[in-house]
Amino acid sequence: MAQKQVAGPEIERLIQLLAKLPGLGPRSARRAALHLIKKKDQLLVPLSEAMGIAVRDIGICSVCGTVDTSDPCTICSDDKRDPSVLVIVEDVSDLWALERAGAVNARYHVLGGTLSPLDGVGPDDLNLASLIDRCGAPEIQEVILAISATVEGQTTAHYIMDQLGHLDVHVTKLAHGVPVGGELDYLDEGTLAQALKARTRF
Ligand SMILES: [Zn+2]
Repeated sequence: MAQKQVAGPEIERLIQLLAKLPGLGPRSARRAALHLIKKKDQLLVPLSEAMGIAVRDIGICSVCGTVDTSDPCTICSDDKRDPSVLVIVEDVSDLWALERAGAVNARYHVLGGTLSPLDGVGPDDLNLASLIDRCGAPEIQEVILAISATVEGQTTAHYIMDQLGHLDVHVTKLAHGVPVGGELDYLDEGTLAQALKARTRF
């Protein structure tokens, strides 16, 4: 017997879209949708407005690859940051984690993933070409590889190291506290700050 419809297609669509969010399955998506609908004025309206603004204004920084409402982004335009240090991260979530940890006052470069030949991710699929250009700038003295201790992360780190080999920059990597196979985004801020402070020559 076919399932009876309990609500119109608009509500069903809301549930289906919410179910695509990380960490939400169909069941929790249904609960979230109902919560939003019940809290229409406090939650659903401001959320839809915030999403409208996000769609309209958020883009990718042409310098570092992070997401922001301005280009260059807030971090790239911040002249109080140390211009001699560049921190390389896989994803925007890692940049946010490092900023939460407050461990370094530098600028970043977001790769947009890691090299993974098995999944067909090669150097051209990552934000690598502009990285090599940036690292060649005379003010850059240190490049910190803040990349996960996964196989793909380490493959990526070695590739970058090879590409930067001819430049006169120190390449360092995160030290103790980053578990093997660990992803940066999941580390607590203290561990992350410690790993950054105790970074070692690559
Ligand atoms: Zn930027």
